[in-house]
Amino acid sequence: MAARAEASPADYSYSNLNWVTASAMVAFHGAAIAALFFFSWTNLIVALVLHWFAVGFGISLGYHRLHTHRGYKTSKPFEYFLAVCGTLTLEGGPIFWVATHRVHHKHSDQEGDPHTPHDGGFWAHMGWILFGDMHHNNTATMAKYAPDLAADPFYRWLNTYHYVPLVLLGLILLAVGGWPLVLWGIALRVVIGLHFTWLVNSATHMWGSRRFATRDDSRNSWWVALLTFGEGWHNNHHAHPVSARHGLTWYEFDPSWLTLKALRAVGVVRDVKVAKIREQQLEKAA
Ligand SMILES: [Zn+2]
Ligand SMILES: [Zn+2]
Repeated sequence: MAARAEASPADYSYSNLNWVTASAMVAFHGAAIAALFFFSWTNLIVALVLHWFAVGFGISLGYHRLHTHRGYKTSKPFEYFLAVCGTLTLEGGPIFWVATHRVHHKHSDQEGDPHTPHDGGFWAHMGWILFGDMHHNNTATMAKYAPDLAADPFYRWLNTYHYVPLVLLGLILLAVGGWPLVLWGIALRVVIGLHFTWLVNSATHMWGSRRFATRDDSRNSWWVALLTFGEGWHNNHHAHPVSARHGLTWYEFDPSWLTLKALRAVGVVRDVKVAKIREQQLEKAA
């Protein structure tokens, strides 16, 4: 904890503000609040289904467990489908997301970690997005951290134009259900998805239990896991990054793992990597 005190990168000075990102965040948060005045069951159901595809498939199964850590294998079309779902979260393109996350694993809670609570809980949650040195869709810069994805022209295109699928989806929702459906299916859904995902960077590096003595501060958090399709079992994940299963026991609810098992049963995914834990580690967690 103490080693991190000097030269904090959490610099909130005006000149560091990422204007494009900050403007988008203000607009989306405003529109998300406006959505609350246009509730309908249809809007809610559309938002929930899109949330499942964007965060459940796009982030958890795609960007995180497949594109970053290669915890399982699948066909190129399904890989691309997951990446397009990932862009619907407004968390950036696949090369940016994967590069940022690999840097996080390399320097977790040490100097060089783009989002550690050692620089403040707000910094780890969203400060790093607004003020951090992140080359959002600078594909050339991020490519060196994700050369595997950067070798693929589709991922390079999607990384630079990551907002295109979200814009197209917005236009479809506008045509089908008017502005109220756009507010729910895009604005509110994106804002909730962002905060749930960001909790993995902030909350699960601060609060929860530690089964494994990893060299970072990662924690297992049942409530973050509930909000993120199983991503909250973050101490398990830092101990076994390649494992496509994050909740390692029957009582650690991991919807993405259950989805993967179903996808494996119907032949969509294969070579799924799973960490095994020993009895004494279970006792320690109890
Ligand atoms: Zn982490
Ligand atoms: Zn990871």
